[in-house]
Amino acid sequence: MTARPKSEALYQAALKRIPGGVNSPVRAFRGVGGTPFFVDRGKGSRIWDADGNAYIDYVLSWGPLILGHAHPRVVEALREAAGRGTSYGAPTELETTLAELAAEAYPSMEMLRFVNSGTEAAMSAIRLARGFTGRDAVVKFEGCYHGHADGLLVKAGSGSATLGVPDSAGVPGDCARNTVTLHYNDTAGVEDLFSWMGEKVAAVIVEPVAGNMGLVPPRPGFLEALRRETGRAGALLIFDEVMSGFRVAWGGAQARYGVRPDLTTLGKVIGGGLPVGAFGGRRDIMERLAPLGPVYQAGTLSGNPLAMTAGIETLRVMKEENLPEALEGRTARLAEGMLGAARAAGVPAWGAHCGTMFCLFFREGPVYNFADAKGSDTKAYGRFFHAMLGRGVALAPSQFEVGFLSWAHQDAEVEATLDAARKVFASL
Ligand SMILES: *Cc1c(COP(=O)(O)O)cnc(C)c1O
Repeated sequence: MTARPKSEALYQAALKRIPGGVNSPVRAFRGVGGTPFFVDRGKGSRIWDADGNAYIDYVLSWGPLILGHAHPRVVEALREAAGRGTSYGAPTELETTLAELAAEAYPSMEMLRFVNSGTEAAMSAIRLARGFTGRDAVVKFEGCYHGHADGLLVKAGSGSATLGVPDSAGVPGDCARNTVTLHYNDTAGVEDLFSWMGEKVAAVIVEPVAGNMGLVPPRPGFLEALRRETGRAGALLIFDEVMSGFRVAWGGAQARYGVRPDLTTLGKVIGGGLPVGAFGGRRDIMERLAPLGPVYQAGTLSGNPLAMTAGIETLRVMKEENLPEALEGRTARLAEGMLGAARAAGVPAWGAHCGTMFCLFFREGPVYNFADAKGSDTKAYGRFFHAMLGRGVALAPSQFEVGFLSWAHQDAEVEATLDAARKVFASL
C-alpha cells in the first residue's frame, strides 16, 4: 500500500477538532476501511494528496466537476468575479443568467430558485409541494438520498408501505411518520399505495436515475407510472436530479426518459464545484413561494455571485463541448471494461452505467433496488478500492456510490484505469 505519512498526520490532527476528522461522513473511508488521503490540489483528471501521490480521480467532488479539476475557464471567471466582491445580499444579473441556462436545459423548470446545497433544494421542494397541495404525506424510495433534512432521513417501518421510521438519531418520529418509503423500480408497489392513500400524498420524490445506492437506472415503465399515479391523485412528482442533472444527459433524466416532473431539484454540476443547489418547476407552483406566496424559504448566501459564476462558466463550456453526451461512449467503455475484467478473473460482478456515471457491484446481478445493492460483497469492494488507489486510481470509498467521468478523462486515462483494474483483479 502506498505510504501516506503526511495524510496520516493531517488526519490525526483533524480528528482532534472535527468529528471523525471529516465534514461529510463518507470521506472518512468507513465503507472501505483504512484512513483517507488528504488533498493538496487537483488539475484536470488528477488529484494529488498531501504526500505528492497523484490519482486519476473518479470521485470529482462527488459529481460536480464535469470539466475536471481547476478548468482554466472556470478559474479565470472566478478570479475576475472575486475582484468585484464575494457577496452582496442583493440580486445580480448572474442569477437570471444561470436560471435561463437551467430552464433552457430543463423546460419543466419554468421558474426556479437557487439555494446552497442539494439538501436545501430537496427540503425546500418538499415544503413547497406540501404548501401547494395542502397535504402532508411524502413518498420516497429506499436507497434514494435527498440530503439530510429530517423528513427525508427516513426508512421503511416494518411491514410494506407502512409509516416511515427515522434513519438517524435525532429525527423526530412525528416527522418520519409523514414519509412513506417504497422499493425503487417497484411499479406495482407504487400503484398499490396510490390505490388506498393517493389523495393524502403531497409528493413523490425520486432520483430518476438512482446514484446513491451505487448506480441503479429506472426500469422501463417505472418513471411513467410515477407520473401517471401522481397526476391522477393530484400529488406532485419531484425529480431529484441533484446528481443525474447534467450527468445522464444535458437535460437530465427527464430528457433522457421523456418524463416531465412538476418540480426538479438540481445541485452538484450546476455549481461547477462551488456550493449551489436549485429547485424549480411549474410556474403556478413556484409562485406559491415567498415573497409571492405563503411558502417561506430564504438564504443569506443564495445566488452567491462566485457560485453563480462557476455554474455559468461550467454550463457554457459544457454546451460548447456537447457534454455530457460526448462522454457517454467513453464512460460505457470504462464501465464495460471493468465489468469484463472482474468476470475474467472469476469475481462475481454486475455493472451499470448511464451518461457519465458508472458503477461496479461486487455481486451477481441484476441490481434493481437497494436490497439488491446491499447484497454486494463490500469487503471485496474495499480490497479492490485500496488496490486501485495503490495503482493511482481514486474510486469512491464505498460500494454504494458511483464513479464520474469528466471532460479531462481522455482515452489514455480510461486505458490506464482498465489496465490497473485487470492487474488488480488478477491479484485479488
Ligand atoms: C448529493 C445529493 C443530494 C444532497 O446534496 P448536498 O449538496 O450534498 O446537500 C441530494 N440529492 C441527491 C440525488 C444527491 O445526489
